[in-house]
Amino acid sequence: MARINENYYKLAAGYLFPEIARRTRVFLEKNPGIKIMRLGIGNTTEPLTPSVINGLHTGVEKLASVDMYTGYGDEQGDTRLREALKSQYADLDVNLDVSEIFVSDGAKPDSGNIQSIFGQDNIIAVQDPAYPVYVDTNVIAGRTGNFNKAKGLYDGIVYMPCTEDNGFFSPVPDQKVDIIYLCSPNNPTGTVATIEQLKTFVDYARQNKAVIIFDAAYSAFIKDNHLPKSIFQIEGAEECALEINSFSKIAGFTGVRLGWTIVPKALVVENTESGKINALWNRRQCTFFNGASNIVQEGGLAALSDEGVNECQGLINYYMNNAQIIKYGLMEIGIKVFGGDNAPYIWMKTPDNMSSWEFFDKLLTETHVVGTPGSGFGPSGEGYFRLSSFGHNEDILSAVNSIKQNLDI
Ligand code: PLP
Repeated sequence: MARINENYYKLAAGYLFPEIARRTRVFLEKNPGIKIMRLGIGNTTEPLTPSVINGLHTGVEKLASVDMYTGYGDEQGDTRLREALKSQYADLDVNLDVSEIFVSDGAKPDSGNIQSIFGQDNIIAVQDPAYPVYVDTNVIAGRTGNFNKAKGLYDGIVYMPCTEDNGFFSPVPDQKVDIIYLCSPNNPTGTVATIEQLKTFVDYARQNKAVIIFDAAYSAFIKDNHLPKSIFQIEGAEECALEINSFSKIAGFTGVRLGWTIVPKALVVENTESGKINALWNRRQCTFFNGASNIVQEGGLAALSDEGVNECQGLINYYMNNAQIIKYGLMEIGIKVFGGDNAPYIWMKTPDNMSSWEFFDKLLTETHVVGTPGSGFGPSGEGYFRLSSFGHNEDILSAVNSIKQNLDI
């Protein structure tokens, strides 16, 4: 008799966005005709840039020509794209070999799939709050106990609280863990780890033969040149870290789908020699993945051209201008806010110590703005709320004005 993977029953998340949708629906049923303003989801809204559109057209046209047609490509990605990524890292003084760069269909699939090359009995550590994919994929893989409702966390996972007191970047765990997920700029807190902070984790990982899975999906939003955009800017990180990134937020590829993962040859864990982890990821990708779309990779290549980079910077500036509007709008009415300077997310303290969900209801009812309750990202997110700067500028302005005028605090 076939049996399902019962770990799926353990999943508590998947609750966050459906619950937001449910509460919004109930509100609209009671208040028909009201226009809801959504600052909840990290989804891009602005059109692709001209260079990228040209690149995508090139990809389509090639497929129409018998001479230029390509079928399956390399599972690891188009060499031209990998070379372009390599030179982007070189600008950060990070020297990679092309064989260390794996092009993919996005950072979410990679951050979910990467755990499959590590053993079942590894102890996982996550920042709390965190992008839910890290926890959920390890729950599905059976690396955790059950969800503890009272504590709002899974048994068997080490949570690293990121709080106002530690500047939303926790110290290294005080116990031995094997796989550490770090996200910087962070979703949801919008904070960026400094070189010194990342070094504490690199040192810990090298001492404990642990692996850091570094999610840099928002690195292009870092404006402050002193802040690291890649974990490989930290000395020794190539021995203990891999890095995941994406074209989604850089170039508006959320629906187009393109990302990449760096697995250094120097990365070693227990009982592996150098090159082994890289080979395992290659094996995994060649088994489960047939390469990113050839059309999309042409678009990615165009996004990395000089012109493409300039245009994509325009997109990033657009969203970062929104972030500043949200941040300063909230500050004007006395709300405590974090993030928003080097990241597209604003992490706000709920007024009067309200719970995240209480504030969700209040914001929706009084201002018609939908955001994301911080508690949905982990127990340390309780009492906080995430607002996203991905949206049309005029919608962001309307939402912030409504909050300023109508929120009763
Ligand atoms: N990583 C983080 C931290 C994210 O917030 C997101 C999307 O919101 C992703 C990865 C997903 O990236 P992609 O669209 O490339 O799958």
